Parts: sequence; C-alpha cells; structure tokens
Amino acid sequence: MTTDTIKAHDLILQSVEDKIDDYMVLVQTMYDNPEIGNEEFETMALLVDYLDKAGFKTTAGYVVPTGFIGEYDTGKPGPVIAVMCEYDALPEVGHGCGHNLIAGIGVATGEAVKGIIDQFGGKLLVVGTPAEENFGGKVSMAQAGVFDNVDVALMVHPGSQNGVGGRSNALNPIKFEFFGKNAHACQPQTGASALDAAVMSYLQINLIRQFVNPHTYIHGVVKDGGQAANVIPGYASLEYYFRAPTMAYAKEVTEKAVKAVEGICLANDVTYKTSVYECPYEDTVINYALADLLTEKYQELGLTDIQPVDEVATGSTDVGAVSYKCPTIQGFIKICGEEVGAHTKEMAAATISPDGKNGLIKAAQGLGLTILDLLENPDKLTAIKKEFDETIATLK
Ligand SMILES: [Zn+2]
Repeated sequence: MTTDTIKAHDLILQSVEDKIDDYMVLVQTMYDNPEIGNEEFETMALLVDYLDKAGFKTTAGYVVPTGFIGEYDTGKPGPVIAVMCEYDALPEVGHGCGHNLIAGIGVATGEAVKGIIDQFGGKLLVVGTPAEENFGGKVSMAQAGVFDNVDVALMVHPGSQNGVGGRSNALNPIKFEFFGKNAHACQPQTGASALDAAVMSYLQINLIRQFVNPHTYIHGVVKDGGQAANVIPGYASLEYYFRAPTMAYAKEVTEKAVKAVEGICLANDVTYKTSVYECPYEDTVINYALADLLTEKYQELGLTDIQPVDEVATGSTDVGAVSYKCPTIQGFIKICGEEVGAHTKEMAAATISPDGKNGLIKAAQGLGLTILDLLENPDKLTAIKKEFDETIATLK
C-alpha cells in the first residue's frame, strides 16, 4: 500500500465512525416511519436531502417514483462504483427486513468513499432502489440501463450472520383467473363454478411439487373465491409464486401448472386466464472474486464467522436483476442472534439496537475498504469483471 492508500484507508474508517450518530438518526427515522414498497416518498426525501448536503448531485424520483440517485464524479477517468440502498418496509412488521439499515450503510459507504475517490478518479453512485419486497425497484432500474456502465455494484443486508451472500431463486409470480357462470346455488346445473376449478387447480398444483427439481418452491393463495354461499361463484382467482434456481426452470414449472389448470378448466366447464401479477425476479449471479475481497475486509475489521457464498438459493431478491448487468455483491452483517427471524418486529428492533449500530459501522467500513482496494488496484477490478463476463457467457 502506498502512503496515500494508508491515509485513504484510515479516512474511510474514520468517516463512518465520525458520522455514525447522523446515520443512526436516518435509521431511527425510517424505523419510526416505515413506508412499504413504491410508497417510500418521505424516506426518499430524507435520504436525498442527506446526500445533497453531503455534496452528491441528486435526482429524486429516478426511474421509478420513489427511486433516487446521488452522483459524485471526480471528472477523472476511473471505474464507476454503485452502492445500493434499499428502504422499503413491510406491512405489520415495519422494517422487519432491516432495509432502513441497508440505507444507512449505503449512505455511510457513499460518504466515506466520496472523501477519498478524488485521488484515484472515477465516479461514485449511491443508488436508491425502492420496493425490494414487492415491485423490484432494481428490476426497473436494471431494465432502464442504470447499471449498464457500472463496473461494480455493492450493498450489505443485515441479518443474523456475517457473510458474503449467495444465490437467490428466480421468482415467477403468476395469477390464475377462473371464469365460470353464476347461478342460484339451488339451481347449480345452470351455472359453472369458478371456485371448484380454482380449488382443484390448487390441489393439482400441490401434487406437482413432488415432481420438480430440488430447491424449487411453489406457493399460492386463493385470492378470490366467491362472495356468497348461495351463489355459484362465477369468478375465482389464485396467486402463485413459482421459484427455482434459474428463471428458465421457474418458467418450466409454471408451464406444468398451466397445463394442470387447463385440464381442470376443461373438466369444470370454466375458462381461465394467466397473468404476471408482480415483478419477476432473476436469480443472483455470484462473483467469487468480489466475495473474496469483502471477506478479506470483514476479516481485517475483526469480524468472525463470515459465511462463505451460500450456494443453495432459498428466497428471491431484485439484486438478481443487477447481478446480470454488472459484478454485484450483497453481503450480510450480523445484528442479532439466530433466534431472530427475518421479517419480524424483533429484526426491526435490532436495526436500532447497539448491535445494529455496530453492524452499520462494520458493513460500511467493509464496503468502503473493498471499493478503495478496487480504486487502488485496477487489476483486481479487471479480474472481477473477467469473472463476470465468463459467468454470464455460460448462462446465455
Ligand atoms: Zn431484505
């Protein structure tokens, strides 16, 4: 490391520690005023205002109504680095996924890197990606080309373990609508029950589960099942998530379900329609070189039990969409014990606890040092990009 790098290294650590109280005010404000996906207008204003004052060129309502971007351009050639912030809450449990802390980590990382990037060159983006839980802000942004010229995109999510993240399932959200014919329930022979077709479809789709590849998940609910017991329901609907390690397989499984529904509708004299009712999520492409780098920085900061890349996908995230556009990492930082589940009020409470504060510091410092290493050592960035190109080529 050169003298400049040693100085930059210390500046990054110092920047996060010096301003931690300000970051925790942001985290607490979001905790107190949780806004669900696509409704995060006040949260967006809060974060944009902070970045504005920190010297970023900001745009609110970027790509999607509650998205934003904060840019800092050194005016000198160099890499384009994107730090992602999530900030949507959940119904009932508020910030039960800890996205308020993700935003705090993103802003802290951005401010720390802004303090040192001039000596290296390049451009820094703090990207506000809303609605992770339902509408996939990152999917819209990836489609709009936000990450096309980005060299690396990073973020850290809180949880019960330290880690470098892992694969996530592709998610295909499909709605089945059934159209029958209303009738008086004592003259059912003149009607056709959309509900019967929906119920039989639900059972048949359950049976498909046995015949799919491991790590495939199918789960659905009855959304509409009729209004009154004395009317043969003319309309019913089911909403499903089909999840699999790749989108191609999620779609293949969806097709099996559609075939089942088609047969059942024929048997019940009912017609059907399918639609994509929420935003489909891609699986997440792993970048091992980037994961190794974050691991190294976490270790340097004294973090222990750092989980390696999780190769088994369970949940889904819109980070997947970004991971198909540029080398991407979603690391994890421990802010609570394993007994605390995701999407709970306890997880929300952990974000404003001393462990949440410490997690913010370590995560922002870890991301900051990772970015510094890439600015200082272009060969490392080249290796990360080469891995990205090679992996994507195998997926096409
Ligand atoms: Zn989350």
